[in-house]
Amino acid sequence: MAEFHETDFENRIVSSSFSPEDSAGVRENENTLRPKTLEEYVGQETAKSNLSVYLEAARRRGEPMDHVLLYGPPGLGKTTLAGIIAAEMGVGFRVTSGPAIEKPGDLAALLSSLNEGDVLFIDEIHRLNRAVEEILYPAMEDFALDIIIGTGPAARSIRLPLEKFTLIGATTRSGQLSAPLRDRFGVLLRLEMYTPEELCRIAERSASILDIEIEHEGAMEIARRSRGTPRIANRLLKRVRDFAEVLGGGVITHDCAAEALSRLEIDALGLDRIDRLILTSIIQNFSGGPVGLETLGATIGEESVTIEDVYEPYLMQIGFLNRTPRGRCATQNAYDHLGIPFSQGKGVAQQMTLEDN
Ligand code: ADP
Repeated sequence: MAEFHETDFENRIVSSSFSPEDSAGVRENENTLRPKTLEEYVGQETAKSNLSVYLEAARRRGEPMDHVLLYGPPGLGKTTLAGIIAAEMGVGFRVTSGPAIEKPGDLAALLSSLNEGDVLFIDEIHRLNRAVEEILYPAMEDFALDIIIGTGPAARSIRLPLEKFTLIGATTRSGQLSAPLRDRFGVLLRLEMYTPEELCRIAERSASILDIEIEHEGAMEIARRSRGTPRIANRLLKRVRDFAEVLGGGVITHDCAAEALSRLEIDALGLDRIDRLILTSIIQNFSGGPVGLETLGATIGEESVTIEDVYEPYLMQIGFLNRTPRGRCATQNAYDHLGIPFSQGKGVAQQMTLEDN
């Protein structure tokens, strides 16, 4: 098995999770690249057209918008969309995340500081702890905080009113959200992976904001290798620019992008060394699968949650990985891509798994 260090994951250039590099430099802050209006927001046509109806309706009624749950893999534009909703409604935007809110009191303080109509964005909302989550129920439903004063038989509950607000929750795994919380969202929007054409538009837009000269074919090459994710497209754009400046006269052409990305070990489909490690591990150590997520994680030194949230969505999307109740299987496409013969024995083992399910 290839030698592998855990820190490789953190440094991974095609990781869709936020990394400090995404905000490197004042001009290149991730916020600079965030679209500010629905019109500028590329792709996600279904989510956008539904949203514009809800926004218009809320504006006409002069009320805050219903609570919104956004779900989909990291880097697809959930935070960006939440900011756009606040901007379109002309209200304040407060950002926090599930793991950052440790105690019910923290959330109570945050909620009571909101102004009428404000948008509160909670990223990774599935990671809120139970006690904190319970504060949210009356807040979302009745715009009120229920506070318990005292203990034992003398304890009593008082209700404090809150300003009306819109909660926007973002999660990579809507299945992990408790049913009572999920039911309190009026609008559920699923974000889809972007097509190469959409990512190309995003790369060209970012290039013009960052003053990077790029040819259409260069942007397209970056788009094709960005795993359907805008955050990765922006990151690859910045890396390729470095190569273009040093090696290619400053303009990102098709050849320059292809050369730079190959040097970064990102292949034609956007897979990096770690994706290939996951697939070769399934193929070589577990005969193509099925292998349980935990076992796979232990073999390559990564948490199963990260594999599930960050790596699998794209590998499944391009048909390289199957999720079965008995574990993960590499598909024939994965063998072909890696140049490993899809041998008889492995083929039979996999066939049985697919039929079993
Ligand atoms: P998430 O919250 O889903 O992890 P973000 O909203 O932080 O993702 O998006 C990551 C980056 O990708 C943003 O800085 C933004 O520049 C870019 N981005 C995301 N969605 C779009 C889009 N639809 N159009 C243009 N750029 C986008």
